[in-house]
Amino acid sequence: MIHNFNAGPSILPKEVFEEASRAILNFNETGLSILEFGHRTPMFESVVSEAMELVRELMQLDGNKEVMFLHGGASTQFFQVPMNFLSKDRKAAYLDGGVWGSKAIKEAKLFGDVEVVASSKDRNYSYLPTGYAIPENAAYFHYTTNNTIEGTQMGDIPSTPVPLIADMSSDVLSCGMDFNRFSFIYAGAQKNIGAAGVNLVVADKDFLATGNTAIPSMMDYRQHVANGSMLNTPPVFAIYVCLLTLRWLKKIGGIPAIEKINEQKANLLYTTLASLPMFNLPVPSQDRSKMNAVFTMHDPALEKLFLTRCKEEGMIGIKGHRSVGGFRVSMYNAMPLSSVVDITDLIKDFANKHA
Ligand code: PMP
Repeated sequence: MIHNFNAGPSILPKEVFEEASRAILNFNETGLSILEFGHRTPMFESVVSEAMELVRELMQLDGNKEVMFLHGGASTQFFQVPMNFLSKDRKAAYLDGGVWGSKAIKEAKLFGDVEVVASSKDRNYSYLPTGYAIPENAAYFHYTTNNTIEGTQMGDIPSTPVPLIADMSSDVLSCGMDFNRFSFIYAGAQKNIGAAGVNLVVADKDFLATGNTAIPSMMDYRQHVANGSMLNTPPVFAIYVCLLTLRWLKKIGGIPAIEKINEQKANLLYTTLASLPMFNLPVPSQDRSKMNAVFTMHDPALEKLFLTRCKEEGMIGIKGHRSVGGFRVSMYNAMPLSSVVDITDLIKDFANKHA
């Protein structure tokens, strides 16, 4: 058995893989593959509308929110957001809490002034900055809710005097929060929502109305809303996989149910690692991510041995990101508790043998 701990694209529920493969051969008993299916057909339109409705329901969105499925991955949002909401005579506030956030900052600087309100770059983004002030004249404040590479996650929603924008690529739908407090949310789908190639965007109608208009149509959120996320040919299959994953999440009890399981998984893994002197947890406990657990070994000579052992036992995707080193165990929504039990057992056994 393979346990896939990759950070993304990552594990999805088995029943989603099964249903998606059936649809590749015969979508909804039409005799056609989902891959050849027209996007402007009532059947595919209902895929998009059901997926949007499920997002509204699962995230408990108020009536002032628009839901979109857009191309390009979260990296496109890094520049599409400032292209819509920033201009040369304005500034935006950004929190520099990780590699992905710093990439968003780099792109925003192309469109206007950027004030970095706080940064944890001084310690390789191994903690989350606190105690910063957000300027009242900023066009918006942007932060990353979960730093996938460094394994940090913001517990509370920051209070801000300006519109709040978040990159939720690696923890959306994994824990409860008041999503209505955000003016704009984006998330690449390939972790908790579905397949790579599509972004989920949730935006406030009033905020969208303040956006720039002299931009290419494909970059203009309002045009995507007006066309029901079908301004051009959408990533048909990726959206279908999102629908299946959203249906699965609703069936198992939605965000409250998955949050409990995610907490159990993270508690088990972190408690085990903290109890073993062989391992080091670089992130302080209050900042630790429930999606991506990052850890290192005090004796780097053992790291290769550990990776080999994991591979032998079918535990894959745990090598840490090159900028952090060590290991990273990603435990997104579809990762069963049993897989985390298995890797913790392996960790304990390895520590016993090599202590
Ligand atoms: N933001 C975060 C938090 C991410 O984890 C990632 C990808 N791992 C990205 C942005 C970039 O996403 P994409 O590759 O879809 O552009």
